[in-house]
Order: sequence, then structure tokens, then C-alpha cells
Amino acid sequence: MKAKRIPIRMCIGCHQRREKKGLIRIVKTLQGNIEVDPTGKKSGRGAYVCPQVECVQALCRKDLSSAFRFEIEEAEFIALKDMLLGYLKNPREGGSQ
Ligand SMILES: [Zn+2]
Repeated sequence: MKAKRIPIRMCIGCHQRREKKGLIRIVKTLQGNIEVDPTGKKSGRGAYVCPQVECVQALCRKDLSSAFRFEIEEAEFIALKDMLLGYLKNPREGGSQ
């Protein structure tokens, strides 16, 4: 693969632009579920966050909702944060359920 351009995405926690591969992808699946997508391969609309607790804590439901163009419910938002924090603690096992 020739990669002239490094894909850059914005973290929705700190709003800094970073290399996509250094960020965690969050995906809204075609079924409408919000999931952590460590492989970056699930289909659906994605948003990105730095693999840092600070950025996960800084997430705002409104920003996430606009990133996904979808009103995320509070319970779903809290569940997502839990998933992300779980993933940060244990990257190898996180995100699969
Ligand atoms: Zn960040």
C-alpha cells in the first residue's frame, strides 16, 4: 500500500486531530447500535477518540450525537463510555461484546 497521506481524524473528546490509527473508532452499526470498534472494520458511521481516559471522560453526548447524526440516549452514552474505559484498561479483550 502506498500511503502518501496519513489519514487524520479528530478526537471527539479533546478535538485534536491525530493519526487515525492512533485513535479508537466508535461506530454506529447498521443496526443502530453504538459500539467500540477496535479493528476499525465494522461498517457504519464512525467517530474517533484518543486512547486516553481524559478524552473518554471529556466526551459529550451532544458532540457524539452530531458526529453520528443520531440522538444518542443518555443510557447508551454511559454504556459507551463504560465500553471505552473497559477497552482502555484491557485493549485485547475490549470491544468484542
Ligand atoms: Zn483526544
